[in-house]
Amino acid sequence: MRWDHLGDTPAAPADTALFGTDAVTTRTFDTPEFRGITFHEVRARSILNRVPGASRMPFEWTVNPYRGCSHACVYCFARKTHSYLDLDTGLGFDSQIVVKVNAPELLTRQLASPRWQGAHIAMGTNVDCYQRAEGRYRLMPGILTALRDRANPFSILTKGTLLLRDLDLLVEAARVTEVGVSVSVGFTDQELWRTIEPGTPSPQRRLDVVRALGDHGIGCGVLMAPVVPFLGDGPEQLRETVRAIAASGATSVTPLVLHLRPGAREWFMEWLGRHHPGLVRRYERMYGDGAYAPTWYQRRITRQVHEFAAEFGIGPAGRGASRRISGPRDAPEAAPAPVPEQLTLL
Ligand code: SF4
Repeated sequence: MRWDHLGDTPAAPADTALFGTDAVTTRTFDTPEFRGITFHEVRARSILNRVPGASRMPFEWTVNPYRGCSHACVYCFARKTHSYLDLDTGLGFDSQIVVKVNAPELLTRQLASPRWQGAHIAMGTNVDCYQRAEGRYRLMPGILTALRDRANPFSILTKGTLLLRDLDLLVEAARVTEVGVSVSVGFTDQELWRTIEPGTPSPQRRLDVVRALGDHGIGCGVLMAPVVPFLGDGPEQLRETVRAIAASGATSVTPLVLHLRPGAREWFMEWLGRHHPGLVRRYERMYGDGAYAPTWYQRRITRQVHEFAAEFGIGPAGRGASRRISGPRDAPEAAPAPVPEQLTLL
């Protein structure tokens, strides 16, 4: 295992936090929730990551307190990043979780630096910051506190219902800065969910998060991702998913078709062969040219989702996904903070 490279990508020098092997503490917990999972606790040297090629992204900075994700989505594109640590990108990604235990104190310090200009910070852009480990390590309350205290704008993308634990902090932060929250729900099909996203809360429970956030004045967009070809893309499936998203009070819906980059692709195709062997050839044809489904297919899905969105009265993406709540320290409302739709994986 390479502990000298704990950035999120190999080509991001500013993203590289260095550790010595003696800085790693490995733990397991014998509770049903964490059985089979190994946690590697590390003390990172830096927690603010600059996004390489940020011009293509709606944000330049990210914070990722974890590496690996027990939500275990078969298609997760972050799988590849585990290989930079010489860790397995399949089961290892789901069960070998790196925890940057000093993330809150580091962020507090880095936000206080005179060099920090208060740029928007996106979270949940590599792996889910509200995955199960967060229930034990509780890094996000300290991170949100640091952001709130500095009135630093931020956004979170998650599949984790654990986010509601920190609702009070989110509301407090939204009183002083731009806060964007997006939840990822690509489909509502129960069978598909159980097999392809086996470690995640159910789509319905995620939509309950959207509803709860809305009830507390925090508008929440839904990233409808991934739309899974031949398994979750039937017109009735799309319609039902958009209907459920609209019923949750989501401020927007953004469809994103499954993409299969190296690292995720091998794991996904293995899964497909086991669960849907009859689809393997069709997938090979559809993704034969690379990581993305053909443009005509992506356009068709986007058009259909937009039509259903119009039918159920839910707005397009980019509106209202971030929210600033009026409060004593409030200044005139600023433009909505960017939400990490383009990058997202969740
Ligand atoms: S897609 Fe998101 S929630 Fe699923 S395993 Fe990857 S990081 Fe975790």
